[in-house]
Amino acid sequence: MNILSLGAGVQSTTLLLMAGHGEFETKPDYAIFADTGWEPQATYEHLEWLERESTKLGIPVIRTAKGNIHDDLISGSRNQSRTANMPFYVEHDGEKAIIPRGCTGEYKIEAVNKKVRELLGYQKRQRIPPKSVTKWMGISSDEIYRAKTTGVNAWEVLRYPLIEKGMSRLDCMNWLARNGYNVPPKSACIGCPFHSDRTWLEMKRNDPEAFKEAVEFERVIHQHGLRGMKGKLYLHKSCRPLDQVNLNEDQMDMFDDGFLNECDGMCGV
Ligand code: SF4
Repeated sequence: MNILSLGAGVQSTTLLLMAGHGEFETKPDYAIFADTGWEPQATYEHLEWLERESTKLGIPVIRTAKGNIHDDLISGSRNQSRTANMPFYVEHDGEKAIIPRGCTGEYKIEAVNKKVRELLGYQKRQRIPPKSVTKWMGISSDEIYRAKTTGVNAWEVLRYPLIEKGMSRLDCMNWLARNGYNVPPKSACIGCPFHSDRTWLEMKRNDPEAFKEAVEFERVIHQHGLRGMKGKLYLHKSCRPLDQVNLNEDQMDMFDDGFLNECDGMCGV
């Protein structure tokens, strides 16, 4: 089985549409989108369009979800119960750090793997033969360091078709334009601490409701903390409340992109 891991950003959207246009020797059987439940409205609108387009091109898109990352963390923080943590910044005894991230693994990778298992007809913990699934990943050549050579399971083989074709993110955008498609919005959780200042600022200006949600989310996490975690938690690397951060409106580095440095190929592509 061939599965495309769909993040619904520029790269995985391009990969899906290219596959639908027959630009690879085979097509994925399915594209799977793992929904964290807290993407911007623009991403959900893009996803709805992409589902229709992809179905026309012969590749069904399946949505799956482990839960709602926003609601799960709010309730985990209030009740001090276990959570799959976002990579929050923490300040403790005057030291700043970032906490280990569990969200991509649980809300993205495991959610997709669970759906693959279901599609293959295997029960939980039932052994799937090695290399049963080729997972297409939308990593472009300029982000090659996000590509891993092996998957977490023996039953999967990871494939990077954009890298095989030497395509960068810009090449993806050019391919979309040549083929009459719009460039999708960035896909990532609204309150992801990996957002660059540019992303936060764009959200503050263009999607104030989402920005407000992130500020309120941070307020709760900051106030109640997370189980087993010492120190105060923040969404911004400055370890200041998001609505008080100076987002450098006049001096933004237009090429600054937190995901380029931090994420491992499931979020933001
Ligand atoms: S976008 Fe950020 S918060 Fe959401 S799952 Fe990925 S790393 Fe976690």
